[in-house]
Amino acid sequence: MTLRSRLLLAQAPLVLALLFLGATAVITLARVGRSGQQVLEDNYRSVLATQRITEQLERMDSAALFIIAGERERGLTQQATQRPSLESELGIQQGNITEPGEAEATQRLRTAWTKYREEFDAFLQAQDTEAARTRYFESLSPAFQEAKAAASSVLALNQDAMVRKNDRLRQQSERVNTLMVLAVVAALGFGLFFTTSLVQRALRPVSVLSQAVRRLGQGDVEARAVVEGRDEIAGLARDFNTMAERLAQYRKSSLGELLQAQAVSQAAIDSLPDPVLVLGAEGGLLNVNAAAEDVLHLRLDEGGDALGRVEPEVRAVLERVRAHVVGGRGTYQPRGYEEAVRVEASPEGVRWLLPRGSPVHGETGDVVGATLILQDVTRLRRFDELKNDLVATVAHEFRTPLTSLRMAIHLVAEGVVGQVTEKQADLLFAAREDCERLQGIVDDLLDLSRIQSGQLQLDVREVSMEELVEQALSAQRTLAEDRGVRLSQSLSPDVETVRVDPDRLQLVLGNLVGNGVKHTPQAGEVSVRVSREGTHVRFEVKDTGEGIPAQEQARIFEKFYRAPGAPAGGAGLGLSIARDIVQAHGGELGVVSTQGQGSTFWFTLPQPEQG
Ligand code: ADP
Repeated sequence: MTLRSRLLLAQAPLVLALLFLGATAVITLARVGRSGQQVLEDNYRSVLATQRITEQLERMDSAALFIIAGERERGLTQQATQRPSLESELGIQQGNITEPGEAEATQRLRTAWTKYREEFDAFLQAQDTEAARTRYFESLSPAFQEAKAAASSVLALNQDAMVRKNDRLRQQSERVNTLMVLAVVAALGFGLFFTTSLVQRALRPVSVLSQAVRRLGQGDVEARAVVEGRDEIAGLARDFNTMAERLAQYRKSSLGELLQAQAVSQAAIDSLPDPVLVLGAEGGLLNVNAAAEDVLHLRLDEGGDALGRVEPEVRAVLERVRAHVVGGRGTYQPRGYEEAVRVEASPEGVRWLLPRGSPVHGETGDVVGATLILQDVTRLRRFDELKNDLVATVAHEFRTPLTSLRMAIHLVAEGVVGQVTEKQADLLFAAREDCERLQGIVDDLLDLSRIQSGQLQLDVREVSMEELVEQALSAQRTLAEDRGVRLSQSLSPDVETVRVDPDRLQLVLGNLVGNGVKHTPQAGEVSVRVSREGTHVRFEVKDTGEGIPAQEQARIFEKFYRAPGAPAGGAGLGLSIARDIVQAHGGELGVVSTQGQGSTFWFTLPQPEQG
């Protein structure tokens, strides 16, 4: 049965009750109406007839009195008109016998009337008035009295019956009233009770279904709606159950896949020899691999401060990389091996770990965490140290012989030890120039090894900005004039002085300007710009040269790196040294360049605002 027909059926008790009520009302009202009519039919006609009979008897009596009084003619016509109508009224009464005893009373009236009529006829036969009078008083008047009494007894009989019936009618209508009230209450109660229970029964499946929906909404995929039948709600419940089934299957399968994928990715990161850890945006530990557990003593299930057991130095590095990545600055690439942190690992001894970081993106694309890889660069670092030692030793060992070589060539070239020809002098000058360049390289190498071994002692002083830049530029002026390159400078007025190690900084500026000049064709320009940027002073050395290809830009700061096709003479150390010096000052150095459109090397130095 459909829901619609069930709901319609649920109205049936109310409709039945209404019908029953209507029928009862119609029947009882008809009964009451009929009783009223019965009274009219049964008694009112008799009452009317007997009243008329009495009246006609009295008229006949007064006709008799007229005759006695000498008005014979008038008396005769009056009694003659009464007789037929009285007969007819008596006929009516005789045909309307309804009450017990009424038949006898009517019969008595008929007999009295017959007797009175006979007496009246005899009265009319009287010879004279006197005889008539005697006759009237002797027999006619008593017959009249008797007939009247008989009529009035019939009248009384009917009037009594009317009163009785009226009482009965009133009682009956009162009963009907009570009955109707009871019937209304009963019908209403019955109708409401059955209608509500039927509606409830029809809607019970809805609540079953809604309960199941609610449970499913709360995440219980085992929730099912058990609704029997073939109506709309049962159909809906079947559809719901199918949906819940699918959902459960999907959940099961996707959970399985998820778990498997998780196990696979965990195995993958566990197989990495380097420590890997995933940190949330707030710094919580989300995942670690086996190497991280071993080396950093991290445990994933440790609540609270998960990084608490990590050495403070390592922790600071981890926090810095996390802040970089979570701050939306993209992946974190270390600048060089110098950034590696020292970790004491028990069996292997000291380990050097180089941090890298990449963002973990959430569903909406924002950064929700950072994956940190600590690349083990212990061996590379050892090689680096070895190389540095070697370079330092070689450079140191080169210095003394180089100085005496220079001295010797100088003395020979100046003719101190004897005359030299012009050709010999040319060769000696070239040799002296190469010696000087070699000396420069050896100085660079020594500087570098000193910086690398952490021996770079800065001699920080307050110096005039103008002087600093001017000295750096003037050192490059001859070279620039030779190559036809213009040098210019623009200094912001709000940086009059800076607190730096002037010699080292001049090395940096000289290096950058010299590089610019070397890589700029004739009629080009190299400009130096100094400006303030909040708590930093920013230096920019801009050239109009060939520019640096993007893939070279990160590498040019590496030690001994020289771009393919770079002009001969350098050792690939200048930028590396410059960056070390800037970093020793607490600043940063970088390059912005588009190939073919020149390069801008920049560096910043932290300088508290003046004034
Ligand atoms: P070098 O002693 O070779 O100059 P640097 O460390 O100073 O060593 O520079 C490294 C490399 O960077 C150079 O070989 C050169 O190719 C490139 N380079 C440096 N400055 C510039 C510049 N202004 N324009 C183009 N290339 C540059």
